[in-house]
Amino acid sequence: MIVMSHVTKEYGGVAALDDVTLHISRGEFVFLTGPSGAGKSTMIKLLHMEEKSTDGTMMVGGMNLNRLPRRYVPRLRRNLGVVFQDYKLITSMTVYQNVAFALEVVGAPISYIRRRVPAVLGMVGLAGMEKKRPEQLSGGEQQRVSLARAVVNSPKIILADEPTGNLDRTTSWEIMRLLTQFNRRGATVLVATHDWAVVDAMKKRVLELRDGRLTRDDAQGGYEPDADTSQAIGR
Ligand code: ADP
Repeated sequence: MIVMSHVTKEYGGVAALDDVTLHISRGEFVFLTGPSGAGKSTMIKLLHMEEKSTDGTMMVGGMNLNRLPRRYVPRLRRNLGVVFQDYKLITSMTVYQNVAFALEVVGAPISYIRRRVPAVLGMVGLAGMEKKRPEQLSGGEQQRVSLARAVVNSPKIILADEPTGNLDRTTSWEIMRLLTQFNRRGATVLVATHDWAVVDAMKKRVLELRDGRLTRDDAQGGYEPDADTSQAIGR
């Protein structure tokens, strides 16, 4: 579902991602870990074509990103749901409008939008919140709206970049539980995070980046801190 082969991304001659090769199959749930500045966001940005790689080849949902003409980017993004740390909701719109917008831009019929949006808001535990505005919601609720917007098109792949970075522990678990549910319904999920407790507990595949290089790929990772990190977190 996601294939990266010798992918490098440089910013001004400095590699944010350095010769990364990986393969994520349909239906997997994968964590992307690593310290701040390791290249996690860069990888997520390359996968939804917010940025272009400097070198290497990438396939996402059967599409070759190296050869994808600009006009096909919307088609790629229809297969992708993306969730960000800062939610990126449109503050002037209601909850309903934020989620409906993702369907409107792909030309979904209004009758479908009217049925689909409340159904997806129900799935993320926000039934009845349609008329609220983002500023009336807690961080966890805003992230649920963002998750609803990400999945409303039934994407094959969900990319999440530090989705719990601004949330407390309980709320973080709720968001992870929802991501797991969407994974069970068939979506391939890639979650960039440095939330060790979550990674440790969930026993999913763990990829780790350090200085832009893929340094670990564990099928059923717990978090395995190296000696320095162990000291820092008291293990
Ligand atoms: P992470 O998400 O793991 O914290 P990032 O992917 O944001 O890491 O960053 C990886 C490296 O690339 C860092 O050294 C960062 O400073 C650099 N970087 C990221 N985006 C840019 C950019 N737009 N311009 C220049 N350098 C960047």
